[in-house]
Amino acid sequence: MTDLIERKLHRLAGKLSGRLSRPGQQLYAAATAIWAKPVGRMPSVVAHCQTPEDVRAAIQTARDCELPLSVRAGGHDWAGRALCEGLVIDLSGMNSAVVDSVKRTAQVAGGARASDVLAVADPLGLAAVTGSCSSVGMAGLTLGGGYGSLIGRFGLALDNLLAAEVVLADGRIVSARQDSEAELFWALRGGGGNFGVVTAMQCRLHDVPNVRSGMLLFPFGEAKAVLEGCVSITANAPEELTVQLGLAGGPDGTPLAMVVPTWCGPPEAGEARLEPFSKLGTVVAGAMDAMSYGDSLAAFDPFLVIGQRVFMESCWLPALDGRSIDAFIEAIANAVSPGCAIFTHECRGAASRVPVEATAFGLRRDHVLVEILATYADRSNPVDEDQHRRWVQDTLDAFSTMALPGGYPNFLPSGDVERAMKSYGCNVDRLIKAKRHYDPDNVFGSAIPLPASMRTLAAE
Ligand SMILES: Cc1cc2nc3c(=O)[nH]c(=O)nc-3n(C[C@H](O)[C@H](O)[C@H](O)COP(=O)(O)OP(=O)(O)OC[C@H]3O[C@@H](n4cnc5c(N)ncnc54)[C@H](O)[C@@H]3O)c2cc1C
Repeated sequence: MTDLIERKLHRLAGKLSGRLSRPGQQLYAAATAIWAKPVGRMPSVVAHCQTPEDVRAAIQTARDCELPLSVRAGGHDWAGRALCEGLVIDLSGMNSAVVDSVKRTAQVAGGARASDVLAVADPLGLAAVTGSCSSVGMAGLTLGGGYGSLIGRFGLALDNLLAAEVVLADGRIVSARQDSEAELFWALRGGGGNFGVVTAMQCRLHDVPNVRSGMLLFPFGEAKAVLEGCVSITANAPEELTVQLGLAGGPDGTPLAMVVPTWCGPPEAGEARLEPFSKLGTVVAGAMDAMSYGDSLAAFDPFLVIGQRVFMESCWLPALDGRSIDAFIEAIANAVSPGCAIFTHECRGAASRVPVEATAFGLRRDHVLVEILATYADRSNPVDEDQHRRWVQDTLDAFSTMALPGGYPNFLPSGDVERAMKSYGCNVDRLIKAKRHYDPDNVFGSAIPLPASMRTLAAE
């Protein structure tokens, strides 16, 4: 860091209502402890923001100093996009969530996690559309998409975004909604953190007094019958039923088939809707019950380990069928360690019915999102690293002939511009125009890959 940059950072520290932290400090350590173990150069400095004005000052300083910039909220981006080697805007202190139970909305600060929203909505019998893990940041999830167990009934998380307060690259603080900054509002719903820093969101809430859910684990040897059984149960099921599937190493490392059905419709119908899942095979562990929506998200908490090395890939499949189920099973049979896993998220019902041009999110049809994940603890072993990387790539390749173009933007690797373009489908040109308008200098270039300039743009 030059003296000039140091002076500017010193000035920023004086302006912030939050703090500025450096390597070696406790605040810095907390902000840089993200879900995926950071690799590469660590940030020079973290601005722990408390207000939109703090965020504006941090953006201006990063730009003045020509430092790379990134945004850290819930810290659950698998590729570690929250961190860069320059200045990190840490929103984790901006985590309030306030419910308006009359309007059925929540005012959610830019760094709030799903758990922050559920803590205030659950006791009122209200639910926000979240992902399946309560520790994921609401803004990161919502800006990129947001697949969760309420998807069939209420859509993606981004379909439930009503307004956003955004600090733009030029320092303006604007409110984006249907009738103000409408193009920004459109682009935010799918385009990720490419357009500015969202310091607050207004999200729609829904009356969901409880759900029926749970995690059932079956022996890996029964995986084919279990997965096929799930496909047949859900084929004609109401939109209130979603099922998340997984093949992963159990507590002792032996692979297991995981089934997580959730019913969010009338409570009296839930037991009958979920019962067939327990008859799919030999349940080695797990149970299903009525519970609050927030509690249903806790199912995954015991499996979440912060700070592991991770390789991840994903793809969109038109549906689960015999071929893709065989590919799943073969991949796990060839897993290089118990850290190799495959999970699915469904998209159907309300999420599929939204017209594709209504938001930037590029795939509006029933489909299955596949997550291919390899986690391992020790980065110092290059053989391990290489084996896990190769397993993920081989598994992705096995799905390639069945997959739809592109993939879930929140899961795309940094820099995979080609696939990002395909993901946004017919929305890509409009999205890039919005990017050029709101962030022409690509200040937020650490977000989901979306270049400020793109040769394929029709206008060129
Ligand atoms: C364990 C785990 C479970 C997951 N489960 C699901 C799931 O069920 N469904 C699903 O759809 N996705 C899921 N995801 C993916 C997740 O939604 C995305 O990775 C999301 O971006 C994480 O947001 P975050 O705030 O926690 O992450 P961070 O790492 O803090 O942020 C990632 C990036 O998002 C952008 N961003 C975040 N907040 C803001 C903001 N306020 N303003 C502007 N940009 C912002 C920035 O570009 C930032 O760098 C999961 C990820 C993990 C690791």
